[in-house]
Amino acid sequence: MTAEKKLTELKLRLAEVSDLNNAQAVLGWDQSTFMPSGGAAARGRQMATLAKLSQEKFIDPEIGRLLDDLRPFEESLPFDSDEASLIRVTRRAYVRATKVPPEFVARMSAHSAESYQAWTEARPANDFAKVSAYLEKTLDLSREMADYFPGYEHIADPLIDFADYGMRASTVRSVFAELREQLVPIAQAITSQPPAEDAFLKQAFAEDGQIAFSSEVIKRLGFDYNRGRQDKSPHPFTTSFSMNDVRITTRVQENDLGDCLFSMIHEAGHGMYEQGVNPAYEGTPLANGTSAGVHESQSRLWENVVGRSRGFWEFFYPELQKTFPHLMAVPLDAFYRAINKVQRSLIRTDADEVTYNLHVMLRFDFELQLLEGKLAIKDLPAAWHARFETDFGIRAPDDRDGCLQDVHWFAGIIGGMFQGYTLGNILGAQFYAEALKVHPGIPEEMKQGKFDNLHTWLKENIYFPGSKYTAPELVERITGGGIQIAPYIHYLRTKYSEIYSL
Ligand code: ZN
Repeated sequence: MTAEKKLTELKLRLAEVSDLNNAQAVLGWDQSTFMPSGGAAARGRQMATLAKLSQEKFIDPEIGRLLDDLRPFEESLPFDSDEASLIRVTRRAYVRATKVPPEFVARMSAHSAESYQAWTEARPANDFAKVSAYLEKTLDLSREMADYFPGYEHIADPLIDFADYGMRASTVRSVFAELREQLVPIAQAITSQPPAEDAFLKQAFAEDGQIAFSSEVIKRLGFDYNRGRQDKSPHPFTTSFSMNDVRITTRVQENDLGDCLFSMIHEAGHGMYEQGVNPAYEGTPLANGTSAGVHESQSRLWENVVGRSRGFWEFFYPELQKTFPHLMAVPLDAFYRAINKVQRSLIRTDADEVTYNLHVMLRFDFELQLLEGKLAIKDLPAAWHARFETDFGIRAPDDRDGCLQDVHWFAGIIGGMFQGYTLGNILGAQFYAEALKVHPGIPEEMKQGKFDNLHTWLKENIYFPGSKYTAPELVERITGGGIQIAPYIHYLRTKYSEIYSL
């Protein structure tokens, strides 16, 4: 068989794996949007069956043989050719997948389902004791998972690597330490001033109007409704069944204007990334975004850098006032300050863009301490309250708004779950600064409701390559260097020194 034929054979096999994964995604999307609660048990079983079939198909030794046979062909091609990239990225995923025994995958998946179920009851009941045994087991399983990848420097490294390939605990730690040093004084300077007035965002806003306005906004930003859909779910998310069928969700609170709108822009940022990948990659491991951090850089860029900018609202605010006439009495400037209110708050997902990263750093540090054995699960609630008070100067009244607030540790692993959010904020600012070098008119264009230049630049540089490049490779190609916090700090200082005195 020639190399071309072997590559075709590999692609056929990968397309079947991709079909099984996407079918599983349809079931998952339905579960979170329309499925009646009675369907849960059968749905869990159906998804596990598909996951098992997909895993078996992917770790088939024949795929390993094809990848070995294709090595000389890969080496004869340029690094960034589609063929060489497909072989390289597939091999990386294959080697990783074959190191974890299917028996462990099944054990982990069964445990996650039970643990998640317990969390959905424990959080509203503010009952940490109800989940602590599950969390102990999650920690054991997380360590076991890391140990399938011996030779690490820190036990969290393999787990961080799943989400943000090429990053380690030590790299993330040093980026975070540098960011923290610059961020804390900015957050302190702002929160020592009187908070922005935002009561007018908490009036009654009818659901229909919120959905219609937000949908119009994301359409204008570039979300393609011919290749995507928007629905409601308790927790907003993005998933895709192919690059021509990308699903985003939002939630609506009729007494809070920001929730639906900014969640929708955020998810549309993830969605536009998925829709913008090179169509030739469909059905292969190159077809999705490259890392948690880069994915989050796209959602946060659209949500905050664009969606919370003054220029954006110079265009959209009159439209919003038409939809909700009770905002007619609120000047643009007051509205702009309200949507950029910075405050010490308890909940990560509601946090403003200045204090948000402090929430992430706290979780990241706890993940390392738990994995290192320096912190026991039973001591987590108290450790959380103490650290929160040190970092934010306030104390959560209970565990519900303390260590029980995020689903991540209760439905997955402990390790690698949170760093992507802050890496995304940093990378979003780095990428935006590069886009401005090529198109300095972007901020002026926003005032006229034009987003084509920004969208096209992101598409060409970030969306189109899919996961052809790792995040560090992508950053190097775009910026000529590594991850840098300077553009992000510059962005925050410039924006917030105009709103507050810094
Ligand atoms: Zn996101």
